[in-house]
Amino acid sequence: MEHKWFNMDVDEIERQLDTQVQSGLTSDEANKRLETDGRNELPEKKRESNLKKFLGQFNDVLIYVLLAAAVITAILGHFIDTTVIVLVTIINAFIGFFQENQAEKALNGIKALLSSTANVRRNGERQEVDGVELAVGDIVILSAGDKVPADLRLVEVHNLRVEESALTGESTAVDKQITVLEPDTVLNDRINMAFSGTSVAAGSGVGIVTAIGAKTELGKINEAITEVEDLQTPLLRQIGGFGRTIALFVVGVAVLMFLFGYFVRSFPAGELLLSVITLAVAAIPEGLPAVLSIILAIGVRRMAKRHAIIRSLPSVETLGSVSVICSDKTGTLTKNEMTVTNVETTAAFYEVTGTGYAPTGEIQLKDKKRTENADQILQHFLTCVQVCNDANLRQDETNRWTIDGDPTDGCFLTLGRKSDMELPSYTIISKIPFDSDYKYMAVLAEINEERYIFVKGAPDRVFEMVAKHSQSDFDRSYWEERMSLRARVGERVIGAAYKKVYSKTEKLGHHDLDNGLHFLGIAGIIDPPRTEAMQAVETCLKAGIQVKMITGDHADTAKAIGKQLGIGDGQTALTGRDLDKMTDEELEHAAETTHVFARTSPENKLRLVKALQKIGHICAMTGDGVNDAAALKRADIGVAMGIKGTEVTKDAAKIVLADDNFQTIVHAVEEGRRVYDNIKKTILFILPTNGAGGILIIASIFLGMTMPLTPVQILWVNMVVSVTVSLGLAFEKVEEGAMNRPPRDPKARLLSPYYAFRIAFVSILIGIGTLWMNTFLQNQGYHNGPHQTIILQMFVMAQLFHLFNCRSELGFAFNKDFFTNRMAFLVAAILVVLQLAITYLPFMNTIFQTTPLTLTEWGIPILMGLAVFVIVEIEKRITKSVVGRRTR
Ligand code: ADP
Ligand code: MG
Repeated sequence: MEHKWFNMDVDEIERQLDTQVQSGLTSDEANKRLETDGRNELPEKKRESNLKKFLGQFNDVLIYVLLAAAVITAILGHFIDTTVIVLVTIINAFIGFFQENQAEKALNGIKALLSSTANVRRNGERQEVDGVELAVGDIVILSAGDKVPADLRLVEVHNLRVEESALTGESTAVDKQITVLEPDTVLNDRINMAFSGTSVAAGSGVGIVTAIGAKTELGKINEAITEVEDLQTPLLRQIGGFGRTIALFVVGVAVLMFLFGYFVRSFPAGELLLSVITLAVAAIPEGLPAVLSIILAIGVRRMAKRHAIIRSLPSVETLGSVSVICSDKTGTLTKNEMTVTNVETTAAFYEVTGTGYAPTGEIQLKDKKRTENADQILQHFLTCVQVCNDANLRQDETNRWTIDGDPTDGCFLTLGRKSDMELPSYTIISKIPFDSDYKYMAVLAEINEERYIFVKGAPDRVFEMVAKHSQSDFDRSYWEERMSLRARVGERVIGAAYKKVYSKTEKLGHHDLDNGLHFLGIAGIIDPPRTEAMQAVETCLKAGIQVKMITGDHADTAKAIGKQLGIGDGQTALTGRDLDKMTDEELEHAAETTHVFARTSPENKLRLVKALQKIGHICAMTGDGVNDAAALKRADIGVAMGIKGTEVTKDAAKIVLADDNFQTIVHAVEEGRRVYDNIKKTILFILPTNGAGGILIIASIFLGMTMPLTPVQILWVNMVVSVTVSLGLAFEKVEEGAMNRPPRDPKARLLSPYYAFRIAFVSILIGIGTLWMNTFLQNQGYHNGPHQTIILQMFVMAQLFHLFNCRSELGFAFNKDFFTNRMAFLVAAILVVLQLAITYLPFMNTIFQTTPLTLTEWGIPILMGLAVFVIVEIEKRITKSVVGRRTR
C-alpha cells in the first residue's frame, strides 16, 4: 500500500519513519537505511547498443571508397590487397568505435564530478551530504537554488516556492505549505510535499525524506533522465562538413581522371581503376575527425584536472575566444573567508580580534559614544545577527573550525562566541531568507515568550527601513558616512535592526519591516582578495580579455577590492540603480568602459551580458544564486561555482568551477586557446599529406608514369602514419605567446588565406619532390620493390620532419619549447619502429609489397625530409616578417 504522506500530520510521519524533525537521523541509522534501501539514484537508461554503434562506423564516404576498392582488387585478382583493404575498414571501424566510447566515458566521468549535495540534519546538526546518500527519514533543509534531492514531506516553510516543471510541466513556481491535505489530493496539488528533481525558486524550508531513488514521483514517471551528451561541436561539425566536401570533390576528380585515362591515354581499365581509387584514398583526410575529437577530449580532461569542469564540449572552443569575463566578487575574486573586524552600535565602537572562523579573540570596546546601555545594545546586536542566521559553526575531525552555510552568516556565529555575554535562547517562528535581490534576511523569533522581528542585511536597505520609523532618532547621514568609511577600505558592511511585535504574530512578510524598526548598528567584515586572482587578472589584461567585477556589495567596497586586484581604477563604479536608469544604448557604452558594478541584482547581470554581446564581446559570466541562471544561460560561457553555487546555476552553466576560483576561469581560457591552436596545427599538418598524395597520383596518371605507390601503401601512410604522428600535436604545450595576443575572432574562418597557402605550398613541395624523385629513381634503373619502398619512406619522412614544423605555427621549430612535448618524440620513435617493421619484416613485405632497404637507400628519404623541414622553416620565417605581428 502506498503511504499518503501528504495526508498525515508530522508526528505520525515521525513515528512511521522513526525519525525526529529536530535532530534528524543518526549517521549510523542513515547508513543502515542506505544499505537496506539502496542509494538515492535513478537507474541508468539503456544506451545505444554496441553493435549498432559499431555498424554506424561504416556509414562513411571513405569506407564506401574502400569497399569499392576491395571489390575491384578482388576482380583483378589482387587478393592480398583485398584482404588488407577489408581489414583496414574493420580496424578503422574499431578505432572509431573505441574513440567514441572513450570520449563518452571521459564526459561521463566528468559528469560524475558534478554530484549534487544536500543539506540535512543528522545527529542534531546541520550537515552537507552527497545527494545519493540520503535515506528515508532524513531531514532535508532546502534553500533557494537547491534541487530537491528526494521526495519530501514539508514540515517547515518560509516563503518556500518550488518550480516543478520537471515533474508537472507547469512552469510557474508553487507556493508550499505544511497543512495536512485531503487523502484524494492529486499530485499537482500536494503543496505540502516537495518532489525530487524539482528546484527551489525562493524561500527556504525543511522536509522529511519520504521516498528516494526510483520510488520518488520522478522515478515513477520516468525511469531515468540521463541526457545524451552531444559529442559534436561547431568546429567538429564544420570540419566534418569540410571533410565531406573534400571527399566528394576527390571522388569527382577521380571519375574525371578515370575518363581521361581511359579515353585519352587508353590505359587498361583495371589498372586505371586501381589508380583512381588510390587517388581517392590518398586525398581524403580520413584520420582528421578522429584526431580532432581526441584533442578536444584531452582538453576537457586537462581542464578538469585544473578544476574547470566542462559540461558541454563546444565550450572548449568558445573558451578560446572569450573577450570579457564578468566575475562575482565574493568567493571568486576573494577568499570567502569572512571575519568581522569591527562593530559600531548606536552606543559604542568595538574592534574584534582574531581571524578565521575559530572563536578565539575578543570584542574590544574602543570608543563609547553614550554611557547608558552600551552593553545591552551590543547584546541586542549580537542576538540579532545570531538569530538572523542560516549557518552552522562547528569543529571538524581535525579540530579546525568550519562553517556550513553562507560565510556572511557564519562569521557572525564566530563573533557571538567571541563575546562573553550570555545570549538569550530563541525559537524561530518565521523567516525571510537572504536573497541577492533584496539583500537582507529577516526573522520572526520568540524570546522569553515575547516576539521580535530581527533584520540583518545591506546597510542601505536597513537604513531605508529604519528611516521610515516616524519617531526614530536615527541619523541617516551620520551612518551613511560611517558605512562608507568601512566600505572604502574594502570591508563588507552589514546593518542590523529589530522591533518587538504583538506576541501572537505568526507570519512575516517584507511589508512587516516597513515601520517601527530600531536601528542597532553595523559590522565591518573583511574578506581578503585571493592572491592568485591578482595574477590572473593581469594575465587576462595581457591576453586582451577585459575583467568586470559584478557584485551585490556596496560600491565603495567593490571599488576598494577591485583596486587591490587590478580591476577598475578604484574611482569609478556603477550601481544597479545607475544601470536601471540607463537605456540599452547607454548601457552598452557603460558596459564597455566601466569595470566595477556594485549593488547589482540578477536582472542587472542579464542586461549586462546582453549589452556586452551586442557590442561584439564573447562573454563569460559567473554566478551562484538561483536568480543568476538566466544570465548564465545567456552568456557565451556560463560559469557556475562548484562549492557555493546552487544546483540550479550549475544546471544552467557550461562550466563549473570545482574550486570557485577566478584563476580557474583564466586557466580554462588558456586551455581553450591551446586546444584551438592544436586543432589548427593538426589541420596544418594533416592536409598537406593528402594534398601531396593527390598531386602525386594525378600527375602520374597525366604523365603516364607507373604508380609510385600502391593503394595499400597509401592506406598505410594515411591511416597509420598520419594518425599516429598527429597525436603528437594534441599534446603540444600552450604556445608562449598564447596569452599575450587578443582573443580569436569567433567569426574568423578556420582556414585563413595563409592556411590555404601553407597547405598548398607544402602539398606541392612534397608532391612535386616525390614525383621528381620518382622519375630520378626510374632513370637510375630502380624498379617496383625498392623504388616504391623508397618513395613510401620519403613520404613518411617528409611527414615526420613536417611534424616539427607544425609544432609552432609561425615560430622557429627549435625554440625553447622544443623539448617540452615528450609526446612528439614518442610518436616519432613509434613511427621509426613502424617504418622499420614495414621495411624489414618479411610478412609486412608481402602485404605491403615493400623490400628491405640498404643504408644508402635510406639517405634519400631522410634528405628529402630534412629538405622539407628546412624549406618550410624558411617559409615560416619569411611569412612572419611579412605579416609581422598581425593577428592570425
Ligand atoms: P556578493 O556579490 O558579494 O555575493 P550579495 O548579493 O551576496 O553580494 O550581497 C549583497 C549585500 O547583501 C552584501 O553587501 C551584504 O551587505 C548583504 N548580505 C550578504 N549576505 C548576507 C546575509 N547572509 N545576510 C544578510 N545580509 C547579507
Ligand atoms: Mg553572495
